[in-house]
Amino acid sequence: MKIKYLLLLISFSLFSQNTSKFFEAPNGLLLLGADLHTHTVFSDGMVWPTIRAQEALRESIEIIAITDHLEYQPKKEDIPNPDLNRSYVIAKKSVDEKDLIILKGSEITRHMPPGHFNAIFINDANKLLIEGDSLAGIIEANNQGAFVFWNHPHWTNKSEGRMDGIAKLDPVHEELISNNLVHGLEVANEDTYSEEALEIAINNNLTVLGNSDIHGLVDWDFDIPNGGHRPLTFVITKDNSQGSIKESLFKGHTFVWFKDLLIGKEENIKPIIESNIKFRSNGYIGETTVLELEISNLSSVPFSLEYQGEYTFHKNSKFLKILPNSSFKIQIKTLSKVETISLPFNILNVVTGLRRSLTFDFDLKI
Ligand SMILES: [Zn+2]
Ligand SMILES: [Zn+2]
Repeated sequence: MKIKYLLLLISFSLFSQNTSKFFEAPNGLLLLGADLHTHTVFSDGMVWPTIRAQEALRESIEIIAITDHLEYQPKKEDIPNPDLNRSYVIAKKSVDEKDLIILKGSEITRHMPPGHFNAIFINDANKLLIEGDSLAGIIEANNQGAFVFWNHPHWTNKSEGRMDGIAKLDPVHEELISNNLVHGLEVANEDTYSEEALEIAINNNLTVLGNSDIHGLVDWDFDIPNGGHRPLTFVITKDNSQGSIKESLFKGHTFVWFKDLLIGKEENIKPIIESNIKFRSNGYIGETTVLELEISNLSSVPFSLEYQGEYTFHKNSKFLKILPNSSFKIQIKTLSKVETISLPFNILNVVTGLRRSLTFDFDLKI
């Protein structure tokens, strides 16, 4: 027994280094949990960069980007910060790459429009700090081969003249997108999300991202001790090399876990649902035409389902809630004995667009 347990532990720890512990990955792919927007004392954050790395390790996250503001340096008197790469360098040195991938990034911080942009996979943060021209930093980031995304496009801020919380494109954003200088946008940031931002991502072929934008402690802001979690971008990738992660980001192969919501483009989310919600038939009960099915949820997210088909259930309403990592039985009245069944469900907490949630047909043999 003890050896078995040890083997289990070893295999779990090997497994946890390569893919997310929060979801089952579709065959042949990895899901890497990423927070691509974090701050430290090297801008307006409250912690030393090593704490960002330690937090991520404790939460079993695979990737973080340190993205301190370039232009906003409120701690300058105490931390002069002449080299804007330092927060990344300090965090990076504190962990082994096989335990946590840390990406070098910066937040290019301008008034709206254009607003705030994160550039990750940069070479040198210092070169992105360009006075005057508000787009010069974004162009330089692109020259460095960076993946650039628009932060919190739904931000409400009086001095920015944005009070309705509705993400929308200004002409400058349209120009940046059409020139391929911006590649993604945040649909979730801290404790907010935007279906309008998701719609912009879908219509403009931008990558869907959700990040914490953490300034204080993740434990405090997202109630980690009581089972909370920060917003995460899951990168759907072939392997965990930085090259593969970057390629997946540029191709838009992501989805977001925000509170109890999964948010993303349908083509990315569908295979995740297929790998994480499983139906199994236990056959018909005795002589009846009442079919027993077992539903399992292999993920860390509770799913709320609404059945949309023609049958009715024997013991439940058409609304089902499947808790994380659990399963339960339902009985469905099919009127006659069938050999295959297709069960159409609307998955209420999987957001795939503006006022849209995912519909999915679970097909199974009896
Ligand atoms: Zn910002
Ligand atoms: Zn920020």
